[in-house]
Amino acid sequence: MKRYFPFLGRLTLSLLAVAALASCQTVQTTQPGAVGIERQQTMLVSSADINRSAVQAYRQEMKKAAAKGALNRNAAQVARVRVIAIRLASASGAFRPDAPGWAWETNVISSKEINAWCMPGGKMAVYTGLIEKLNVTDDELAAVMGHEIAHALREHGRERASQAMAQGMALSVIGIAVGASDGSMQLAQIVTDVTINLPNSREHEIEADRIGVELAARAGYDPRAAVTLWQKMAKAGGGGPPQFLSTHPSPDNRIRDLQVYAERVMPLYRSSTKR
Ligand SMILES: [Zn+2]
Repeated sequence: MKRYFPFLGRLTLSLLAVAALASCQTVQTTQPGAVGIERQQTMLVSSADINRSAVQAYRQEMKKAAAKGALNRNAAQVARVRVIAIRLASASGAFRPDAPGWAWETNVISSKEINAWCMPGGKMAVYTGLIEKLNVTDDELAAVMGHEIAHALREHGRERASQAMAQGMALSVIGIAVGASDGSMQLAQIVTDVTINLPNSREHEIEADRIGVELAARAGYDPRAAVTLWQKMAKAGGGGPPQFLSTHPSPDNRIRDLQVYAERVMPLYRSSTKR
């Protein structure tokens, strides 16, 4: 808070916090699609603010990778990942009309980690560990990336940042009341944390799984590959469980749920022109 409003007095700050809490917005970020996701979400921060911070956070991560010589080292691999990303992003209009026009960006990071993520606004990273250790097919890669893109379409990062801000504001207001210094929050750091470091909720995972298979199907990738992907992920060991599983915890019956929803979107896959 302090870094955002360095010149404001404590009273103003507490009024701002209260105003932000009062103006919290309930939104439906996506259309339900064939998989029928209709949960309303509470947002405390605007998409514009989150996306601006995500660009900042993404640049930072890419800079770190480049400094290690780990950014887009294999041109064929990068091209393969980007083709899939573009096809999935084109299919995203089924869930939200604005999404195909986002400033999508996909890069490949050389790392032993089995990992992939998508920041708010469509800034994506796929790690070579995921591609190579799981020996993924294009359909399986589309399953992972579809899942990640679904988190972005549903604005789960914005929702989680809102939850973090609500807690921070509550603390800040209490801090002001007792005369302690208010805590500082940097939105870009929050975006990094919720995208790369902290686990998603099981509720968010279920939504991303279901929307992910529909995106894959619409983009012409076999949605049933989500099942084999997660089976491979679960089996991957050697040096501990994949990083991906720590940020994408398994909802109960994930495999069963994916089988049901993959079957539901099979007609979309069969009628896809890109198949
Ligand atoms: Zn996830």
